[in-house]
Amino acid sequence: SLKGKTAVITGSNSGIGLGVAHELARAGADVVINSFTDRDEDHALAREIAKEHGVTVRYIQADMSKPDQCRALIEQAGACDILVNNAGIQHVAPVDEFPIEKWDAIIAINMSSSFHTIAAALPMMRKAGWGRIVNIASGHGLRASPFKAAYVTAKHGVLGLTKTVGLETAKEPITCNAVCPGYVLTPLVEAQIPDTAKQYGISEDEAVEKVILAKQPSKEFVTVKQLAGTVLFLCSDAADQITGTSLAVDGGWTAA
Ligand code: NAD
Repeated sequence: SLKGKTAVITGSNSGIGLGVAHELARAGADVVINSFTDRDEDHALAREIAKEHGVTVRYIQADMSKPDQCRALIEQAGACDILVNNAGIQHVAPVDEFPIEKWDAIIAINMSSSFHTIAAALPMMRKAGWGRIVNIASGHGLRASPFKAAYVTAKHGVLGLTKTVGLETAKEPITCNAVCPGYVLTPLVEAQIPDTAKQYGISEDEAVEKVILAKQPSKEFVTVKQLAGTVLFLCSDAADQITGTSLAVDGGWTAA
């Protein structure tokens, strides 16, 4: 049980992050969910998770593209036994047409935010004598696809950070790992279906079948529930000696 632990999950008012929040709450952890917005529905989501699992859940607004806000999220959480770096965005364009502001935003949100939250959380984990860091990377941390220069670069970077932090904490009861999902049907993937169709000059159905799931030998989307279960496993005692590595949950994509 994760009773008495506090989990902070970045970018968790949607998709994989929200699924992870539910799973860790179900296991007994108090949870902090986050995004850059501050809407009634964000706070309502926190109340919903709290009610469903009988744990304390707070929504803390913080923009993961801003270093000071990444660090402030952890400070405001007050405790951080489990840190799940999940916030991420995508933009699809050829490298020579890639908008500079999109490049900067993807590098900041998908990669640098993890550096800042980890730097802020590690002292708390050391004080508590236990810690788990799980970075949600991607199959694109291990493989590239055309038109995703910023995303592929950021996710490869996350795996480098994961290995380094794993080594720096190796002698402590703290682990740092990455999860590399294949394609999951969340708003992030739904949003890139029209762009992918445009880039390849095919229909949206064909984009799903021939481009997106083309890379996934299982020919099935990975589910949010499966990823949340993987994160929970990495937080378990069975995973005490798993550190500085990545776990692919991708229907065989990166085996090829
Ligand atoms: P999603 O769009 O449903 O969720 C992304 C989350 O990040 C949302 O909660 C959003 O509010 C938050 N976010 C975006 N910008 C933010 C910012 N500036 N500050 C704080 N929060 C911000 O997408 P998802 O598919 O659930 O993606 C979650 C993670 O999983 C991402 O890191 C993504 O790269 C990774 N991933 C997704 C897939 C997939 O197929 N969906 C595959 C591999 C990896």
